[in-house]
Amino acid sequence: MRRLSRLRLYLVNPFNPLVSILNVRENVWNQFRVWKPLSLLVIAGLTPDEWEVTIFDENLGVPDYAALPRPDLVGITAFTSQANRAYALSAEFRARGVPVVLGGIHVSMRTEEACARADSVVIGEAESVWHQVLTDARAGALEPTYLGSWEALGDRPPARHALLPTGYRFGSIQLSRGCPLACSFCSVSQFNGMRYRSRPVAQAIAELRQIPEKLVLVVDDNVIGTSRQHVAHAKELFRAMADAKLGKRWMGQATINVADDEELIELAARSGCFGLFIGFESPSREGLEEIGKKFNRVRDRDLRASVRRLQRHGIMVAGSFVLGLDVDTEGIGRRIAEAGDAYGVDLLNVLFMTPLPGTRLWDTLAAEGRIVANTFPEDWQYYTLTFPVAQHRHLSWSRMIDEMNDTTRVFYSYGRIARRALSSLWRTRGLFAPFVTVATNLSFKLNGQLDRRTWRGLDLDRGAPVVAVPQPEA
Ligand code: SF4
Repeated sequence: MRRLSRLRLYLVNPFNPLVSILNVRENVWNQFRVWKPLSLLVIAGLTPDEWEVTIFDENLGVPDYAALPRPDLVGITAFTSQANRAYALSAEFRARGVPVVLGGIHVSMRTEEACARADSVVIGEAESVWHQVLTDARAGALEPTYLGSWEALGDRPPARHALLPTGYRFGSIQLSRGCPLACSFCSVSQFNGMRYRSRPVAQAIAELRQIPEKLVLVVDDNVIGTSRQHVAHAKELFRAMADAKLGKRWMGQATINVADDEELIELAARSGCFGLFIGFESPSREGLEEIGKKFNRVRDRDLRASVRRLQRHGIMVAGSFVLGLDVDTEGIGRRIAEAGDAYGVDLLNVLFMTPLPGTRLWDTLAAEGRIVANTFPEDWQYYTLTFPVAQHRHLSWSRMIDEMNDTTRVFYSYGRIARRALSSLWRTRGLFAPFVTVATNLSFKLNGQLDRRTWRGLDLDRGAPVVAVPQPEA
């Protein structure tokens, strides 16, 4: 029974129907690509017991909020592509007299826009200010904004992983934050700072034990960091995870540097790592220069050998690429697919070059007047990285879509999927890795079809290239 003195807090992860990765009804394989909304579990962990917390992940279904007990406070998080749903939800609750606090990366980068649509906005990381938000909410005196600081990741309660119902294949955890680099398309350094901060090992192990799911996504942007000390910390963490016999299999993200250290790879594998997303970003040196991704520009790095070293330890490699850079010309879709195949990656994750607020790319394209989907907040729904939203130098929007279709068609042909699964079976001599390879490959292939359906509504004429493609003379 609800204690009379307890206040009711709803935390909501808004949905975006245009994000095909979340559509589990139409693509059953997507259940292997959906994880618990970690930021809300973290906020729940920071919330004192006088508040009764309920989390709603709209990706699992949108509840009838009006039929539920009236909350005392609502907190809504949002990536850019979720922003207009977050604002609509905020309006719905505020119309009922419920105060709403918005947080997350989008509202931190577009604070003025968010302030006009909520009672309060948390800018940056919430840990340092959340208690004050709750105290002020209780007193009916919310400030318009709260500015979070970049604190050490040591003293904080664990995320409340058990708050959400089962129905997720993947639990999630964050073990580090921040990045000293500033790749043009990335806002991590703006949001989490340029200093890499790691969780203490014992605290990380204690929280991992609380995650009910066997599969875990480590959401860090780079699990190994960028310096020798960071790598030493990662080794200590992986060793402790292995010794703790957690019985978890985990996936994460890292730079290609992870493949340079045999001991690091071995410890990662022993700790349960079965897959890493690695940003290759572009098949061309000019593309890497454009993005500013330092690690990948090391001369003479043998990317195929790097991928093989990880795979020899049973770690799948998911290669991420960006399509639509200024250097990209006709045929880039196939070139990316062929590069992924040449590197020997198990999965290919290709996203449209998208200027997200808070990135250098946004500043550049905005200054050049090249942001085409610019009716905000409505157009934020297209900032899923699966829609063209800006003007590209050499490619029109319809050409971009053709290129993306080419990538999917070439890399995810049934023949190539079968070859990858067999190769994974040969390498690992077990069924887990080949199964994951097939499940994730089919997920990407079917999502390509779902994306094609959502692209049908786009006004392709809006996205003419900056440098017009020469037309044959009449
Ligand atoms: S893409 Fe990765 S390496 Fe580049 S700035 Fe973002 S987190 Fe750092």
